[in-house]
Amino acid sequence: MIHKMPELPYAMEALAPGMSQETLEYHYGKHLKTYVDNLNKLIQGTPYETMELEEIIRKADGGIFNNAAQTWNHAFFFNNLTPESKPMKQKLVNALTQHFGSVETFKEQFTQTAASLFGAGWVWLVKDKQNKLSILSESNAGTPVKKGLKPILVIDVWEHAYYIDYRNRRADYIHAFWNLIDWDKVADLCVPKKYSCTACDYIYDPEKGAPETGIAPGTAFEDIPDDWTCPLCGLYKNAFVAIED
Ligand code: MN
Repeated sequence: MIHKMPELPYAMEALAPGMSQETLEYHYGKHLKTYVDNLNKLIQGTPYETMELEEIIRKADGGIFNNAAQTWNHAFFFNNLTPESKPMKQKLVNALTQHFGSVETFKEQFTQTAASLFGAGWVWLVKDKQNKLSILSESNAGTPVKKGLKPILVIDVWEHAYYIDYRNRRADYIHAFWNLIDWDKVADLCVPKKYSCTACDYIYDPEKGAPETGIAPGTAFEDIPDDWTCPLCGLYKNAFVAIED
């Protein structure tokens, strides 16, 4: 398959002044494009040619892994940002408080980890299979996809992410990053929405899953197969609506 550039959910100039149009033109338009182009070239004539991006990341190493993981990591990073950052939803505040003691402690630890990562890499907020949150520091193209961890939030601390706007001042870039985060997306990744069946009283809670129908705890509603049916009344997924929080 041909891997494509992810679409930016905002205009190139929309994140200024925290992240300038010129940074987006280089970071998204040149650096990311190079990873995508290299990936497409490198997989030609290999078993990776037919694989989805995440499968390549899990199975490949060397140049194919690096370009696949950088493609995935950047798509996630740019998708985490917004020009209209809103306050955190209460469910996210609760989750961060439960795992880190407070939102402020989480931000301090994440900032400290991002500031002290040596060289190029990524700092992630991730969730494991037991729903435990942690901060993960990864060098170069490192990604939680390889480790079976669920990514919630990421900052790119490669110099190419901040050198145009902040030169060597990584701390200033991290400071600006906090004001560009799409907290609604982060909240729904961290604590996926519950869904209710419109035909009966059944409520799907991602934390519990629906083991009686083969859906493991921790499965987001969006990740349930389309042929799944309501355990109570037997209607299909499209009969469900999200419960807003
Ligand atoms: Mn980057």
